[in-house]
Amino acid sequence: MLYGAIEAGGTKWVCAVSDGDGRLLASEVVPTAKPEETIPAAVRFFLRHQRPAAIGVGSFGPIDLNPASPTYGYITTTPKPGWAYTDVVSPLRDALQVPIGFDTDVNAAALGEWRHGAGRGLDTIAYVTVGTGIGMGAIVGGRILHGLVHPEFGHTYIPHDADIDPFAGSCPYHGDCLEGLASGEAMRQRWGRPAEEVDDAWAWELEAEYLALAVTNLTYALSPQRVIIGGGVAKRESLIQNVRVRALELLAGYPEVPPLTDLDAMAQYLVGPSLDDLSGVLGAVELARDAVEGTL
Ligand code: ZN
Repeated sequence: MLYGAIEAGGTKWVCAVSDGDGRLLASEVVPTAKPEETIPAAVRFFLRHQRPAAIGVGSFGPIDLNPASPTYGYITTTPKPGWAYTDVVSPLRDALQVPIGFDTDVNAAALGEWRHGAGRGLDTIAYVTVGTGIGMGAIVGGRILHGLVHPEFGHTYIPHDADIDPFAGSCPYHGDCLEGLASGEAMRQRWGRPAEEVDDAWAWELEAEYLALAVTNLTYALSPQRVIIGGGVAKRESLIQNVRVRALELLAGYPEVPPLTDLDAMAQYLVGPSLDDLSGVLGAVELARDAVEGTL
């Protein structure tokens, strides 16, 4: 059985064909230009390969996941120019004549890590990406977390002391929400250069503080058995360890269960992804599998 996968990001689409064991047999990167260029380029990739049983798409959002909605399968209110209210699912299904699994890019990454990576063997995990934006996907009780729409944890509010950090925040909707304070874009705007070029210790202390607040809130709201932090910004050396140390302080020993009260155990609770940059695309493969098997 072959499965197709698309990790549909805001800057690039990673298209891949995989066998049933999650091995990638072929892949290609398509730039996220206009929808009328990017979607046909993805279709051409799959036409060059043996037809998969289904294709899974993990997409940047927000997206419409309600099967009863007239805009199911659309990217909806994105500020990304040209992409607001873009139908992603129908053009792929019509051109390739296979079932399409569709979910958020972060839910796909959570799924990939749950099936093949750092979340294996657990029931409930959260995957947080800290890149240009901040997103969260989750597997809860062995199923992808949806609900009213899908989690938008990046837009939760966290304490922001303007005396310490006068930056007003980069979120076009909320200003100083979590994404507005701690995303790669927030760092770029606050420090005047891309996050990977920021070397000031205070900048990364602040980043660890915001992420630790986020992890604490996530821990209390979702009760995950593991929190995986991926994305470009999270690759910063020692950032995750600093988040662990600070989160442990914020959790303050409550409730008294080992990962939340002990730094060694916390190292197993708050981790980086184990699939490197493949969490999303391998998760999209699993979305394709689910489009055939319907287990999620
Ligand atoms: Zn926001």
